[in-house]
Amino acid sequence: MKCPKCNSDLTPTTRHKLKVNYCPACKGMWLERQELNQLEDEAFDFGDDAKGTLFLSSTPTTAKCPECSAPLKRFQYRFYDLEMEVCANQHGYWLDEDEDTRVLELMKQEEKDYERKVLAEDQWARTLTRMRSGSFLSKVKNLFR
Ligand SMILES: [Zn+2]
Ligand SMILES: [Zn+2]
Repeated sequence: MKCPKCNSDLTPTTRHKLKVNYCPACKGMWLERQELNQLEDEAFDFGDDAKGTLFLSSTPTTAKCPECSAPLKRFQYRFYDLEMEVCANQHGYWLDEDEDTRVLELMKQEEKDYERKVLAEDQWARTLTRMRSGSFLSKVKNLFR
């Protein structure tokens, strides 16, 4: 599998408890969709109001999906103020260097603020598991229509 940004070979690695395909050259990472159809409402407790506004915008990019070569689209995931790229054919997500760490830090901050007992890394793991599930990706795909 090749990096969509710099065409280097991606290496399977584990970051923050999650298996990703990591680019040693530009330090981005590809998160494959898992064949896991998890009920999103189980892992996340967004209110119904929040659900409609998770994605603020999406823009096509010149990067290509490492699996199907379709152009990746950049979108903004408002819940964690994160921008990432996604394959419109639902193959997975691309995060740039240290974007996962940044999200994790936001989660840790949030944890402090709300005195949550859950570890931020566990929360991040659950976030990505959910994002890789079919229902979440379908929602993202709706943006592109
Ligand atoms: Zn790269
Ligand atoms: Zn694809």
